Amino acid sequence: MKIIMIAGDGIGPEISAATKEVLQSANASFKLNLQIEDEIAGHASLKKYGATVTEALLKKVKQADGLILGPMSTYDFKDESKGEINPSKFFRKSLDLYANIRPAKTYEGLRSPVNDFDLIVVRENTEGFYADRNMEQGSGEILVTPDVAISLRRITRQCCERIARTAFELAGSRKKHVTIVHKANVLKIADGMFIDICHQIGKEFPEISIDDFIVDAMAAHLVRAPQNFDVIVTSNMFGDILSDLTAELSGSLGLAASVNAGTQHAMAQAAHGSAPDIAGKNIANPYSLILSTAQLLEWYSHRSGKSEFVHAAKAIEDAAASLILSKEVTKDIGGNLGTKEAGNALAQKLLALR
Ligand code: NAD
Repeated sequence: MKIIMIAGDGIGPEISAATKEVLQSANASFKLNLQIEDEIAGHASLKKYGATVTEALLKKVKQADGLILGPMSTYDFKDESKGEINPSKFFRKSLDLYANIRPAKTYEGLRSPVNDFDLIVVRENTEGFYADRNMEQGSGEILVTPDVAISLRRITRQCCERIARTAFELAGSRKKHVTIVHKANVLKIADGMFIDICHQIGKEFPEISIDDFIVDAMAAHLVRAPQNFDVIVTSNMFGDILSDLTAELSGSLGLAASVNAGTQHAMAQAAHGSAPDIAGKNIANPYSLILSTAQLLEWYSHRSGKSEFVHAAKAIEDAAASLILSKEVTKDIGGNLGTKEAGNALAQKLLALR
């Protein structure tokens, strides 16, 4: 498996280095024959090549089997004509990574403000309120007058169908229940279509039960009783927001893992940002990116039929759970290790499996 690894901005280099150490241990213990190649994007690439991402990089990523993208300071990138392209958008759109799979669960030994839960937010990743990616040309954000702005939200049948199918397939291997989250009381046409299509796809999966919630109420339900949910399918921005909530409810945004998957490509990416407030201090939690990488290995296992990759993914998740229990983790999740030391502790656990 050839993996391109991009460290990213802010805490990116720190959590990426820890992730790489874990990956190298998994490689040694599970004989994955990994080839890891470092590349740059974001601020480092802007400085070196005059653009946050390049077509040459995209070509390399397309030829690889997976991408690990460190967090990016996307808020800094305002003008595409100056090379300031949002790398997340660039890869999600260019590689058609339509399904953003964001698991969140509570862990034994880690205090959470809510009841125990284990769920997955399945977020549509290519359209919705993301005005920078939902037009053929240009941006879906328009400044009509200096005081009037319009942002377009796009919802299409094709994108609803494929994200719904991803959610129902996932639910088949879990508790066989899908929750549709929407705002159809206000966005009657677009979200009405989203719900209808989810129900239509659901008919292909008669063993799976379905309910639906309006997104604002869903935020309250997730805090009140997250244990009532298993697979949650929703459009792009609602999924972005709710998955930060579920990650934090599980103990910390530093646990927020995700894989962005399409039919041909996949990208591991922490669900959080570049956390400039804690960058360079060796305190960021690397588990978000490490667990995202485990998801990438699992995706590759399904794609390639090579079972050692899913075994490695499971071993990474188990090692993380056991280190959370013994508190050999970063501060945000109850330990007192630094980023580097937390990555090393996990890497050592994997090496012990050899
Ligand atoms: P953020 O997600 O970077 O941080 C929010 C809070 O969570 C901060 O207090 C931060 O210290 C904490 N946090 C985040 N990751 C952590 C970790 N691994 N361990 C411990 N604590 C962690 O959100 P922000 O500060 O609003 O955004 C910073 C930058 O990141 C902005 O430029 C934003 O546009 C960008 N961003 C990028 C992505 C992405 O690359 N996918 C996602 C969200 C935000």
